[in-house]
Amino acid sequence: MERISTLKTWIAESNAIVFFGGAGVSTESGIPDFRSVDGLYHQKFDDPPETILSHSYFMAHLEKFYQFYREKMLVTDVEPNRAHLALAKLEQQGKLSAVVTQNIDGLHQKAGSRRVYELHGSIHRNYCRKCRKFYGPEELKAMELVPRCSCGGIIKPDVVLYEESLDQDCIMGAINAISKADLLIVGGTSLTVYPAAGLIRYYNGQRLVLINRDETSYDDRANLIFRESIGSVLAAATE
Ligand code: ZN
Repeated sequence: MERISTLKTWIAESNAIVFFGGAGVSTESGIPDFRSVDGLYHQKFDDPPETILSHSYFMAHLEKFYQFYREKMLVTDVEPNRAHLALAKLEQQGKLSAVVTQNIDGLHQKAGSRRVYELHGSIHRNYCRKCRKFYGPEELKAMELVPRCSCGGIIKPDVVLYEESLDQDCIMGAINAISKADLLIVGGTSLTVYPAAGLIRYYNGQRLVLINRDETSYDDRANLIFRESIGSVLAAATE
């Protein structure tokens, strides 16, 4: 396919690739897309997920928050797919400088990626609100419904909830990487979720690649568009 060979050529000519990914990267590992029609938002819980996953809900309804969080978010028995593995390979080859992701599942790191900017945090980090002691996801799973630290404090996942602001160091790191990128590959996101579209604007180059099933608001600015699966496109382009 001609577009794949173009992408291959661009990858060969690049040494500061940045990948910007959304939920669509993880759906190929079996993690449901949050905002899709078939995703979490239409399943049965007392309150809609966008309500449960808010800071005020966490503060007011710890038990209900953790019921949802444990069942739907705290997913650790999943494996990286071809997209994660291809990106890790590009980093190891010195071609990719960073992955910027909206996902919280830690699959890029599991695939071997090292420089990953997790805009919305990670289920792999959990902190005591009182003493900041760290707890991993398996420790959290072994605790009672509402997990408490040995000091008595409530443990909170390091996941950015609605009403909460993103980590500034993470944003600055992502902006820095994107502004220096010689090839920007955007995959699995419609670029409608804050702050995705805003970050893409920092790209200065002429090689913007979009890999997404549906149209995005950035299609007219893209230099190369794929509607196929992210895993198959990235696997074919890096083999
Ligand atoms: Zn504590």
